[in-house]
Amino acid sequence: GIAQGQPAPDADALIAAAGARLQARATPTLKRVFNLTGTVLHTNLGRAVLPEAAIAAMVDAARSPCALEYDVETGGRGDRDDVVNDLLRELTGAEAATVVNNNAAAVFLLLNTLAQRKEVIVSRGELVEIGGAFRVPDIMKRAGARLVEVGCTNRTHPKDFEEAIGPRTGLLMKIHTSNYAVQGFTASVGQADMARIAHARGLPFVEDLGSGTLTDLERWNLPHEPTPREAIESGADLVTFSGDKLLGGPQAGILVGRKDLIGKIKKNPLKRALRVGKITLAGLEAVLRLYRDPDRLPEQLATLHLLTRPQNAMLAQAARLHGPLAALLADRPLTVSIEPMLSQIGSGSLPVDRLPSAGLVFRPIGRKGGILNKLEARLRGLPVPVIGRIADDALHLDLRCLPEADEAAFLAQLSAGFAPC
Ligand SMILES: *Cc1c(COP(=O)(O)O)cnc(C)c1O
Repeated sequence: GIAQGQPAPDADALIAAAGARLQARATPTLKRVFNLTGTVLHTNLGRAVLPEAAIAAMVDAARSPCALEYDVETGGRGDRDDVVNDLLRELTGAEAATVVNNNAAAVFLLLNTLAQRKEVIVSRGELVEIGGAFRVPDIMKRAGARLVEVGCTNRTHPKDFEEAIGPRTGLLMKIHTSNYAVQGFTASVGQADMARIAHARGLPFVEDLGSGTLTDLERWNLPHEPTPREAIESGADLVTFSGDKLLGGPQAGILVGRKDLIGKIKKNPLKRALRVGKITLAGLEAVLRLYRDPDRLPEQLATLHLLTRPQNAMLAQAARLHGPLAALLADRPLTVSIEPMLSQIGSGSLPVDRLPSAGLVFRPIGRKGGILNKLEARLRGLPVPVIGRIADDALHLDLRCLPEADEAAFLAQLSAGFAPC
């Protein structure tokens, strides 16, 4: 509105403001961004980007009716978990599987089904907090289970578990310490020992793997991450893991393990509240199918492609972008350089491991500290926001997650955004 006594703004300014308003209204709130943070599975930026096969399957499922809970052989009612049950059994060696909204839901549902009003024994070294909102002790409480902590932060021994088992014990649980590592004078009880101790007393042993990739990452020189198959082979009765971390699929929580226990979980009325929809299942099925051909996984699975990009690829990209960007920013008190840097996997996967990468680094000339924050905000304000990382008084753009196919569009919007006006 124009306040009384104020000079009327000129027509051009009004039209420009109205145009900007309309533009903003027409733009979706959930914006696509360029993730140049160096964190591949960035929870705040939506974690895994999906492979084309999954995208196509999700579009089909969105567009058409599908046999989600319908058995086309018999014409009778089906079970939505059957969309992925056989694939998950094949890929993990488990007897049965079920899928819920995310891994937090999987852990919650497991505890609520198998340990309500019972004790769950966990090592003190594994009481993790994931991203502020998922804390093992809190989830336990909400699920109605009583947490029994054993051992110490750095060391837990088999006898700690053996001595803690009592008449109220519901299960023994191992939690993958996905976002930190305990180093130095440490001891933890392995999967096989925990399974043996639990089974000797007729109790289930369950493991929350967090990320849980379905393949051996060492084939691609990535650090080892425990797989559901290893956990099942070591004797875990149930294993939970995320669909959108290293697995590279849509947001989901996957439970695999003993058929009788999965059966109980599926009968819990909360399963209905936590179940996934057809679009998620379609995407998950397509992603799981890719794991049947591990040799082609880095070309076919988008996240693995990003994680296995060699440093040379990012250096070459940086070399292509450097000239045009330096020219665009020539009148600002900044230097632009090509530098090696280290990406991280993210989402709590492999917290201490870093992947050699490269990108562009913007450093202020002189003591112009404010310029970095201005540049960072300017990049964030572009139509497809460019999200970098400020560290050591410099703005870093890690190019690992900039697809080569997007490079031209990336440059074009920077040219438009930084053109002198
Ligand atoms: C990430 C993670 C979770 C939570 O999984 P979401 O899929 O984010 O719900 C739980 N436990 C562990 C160990 C994790 O790493």
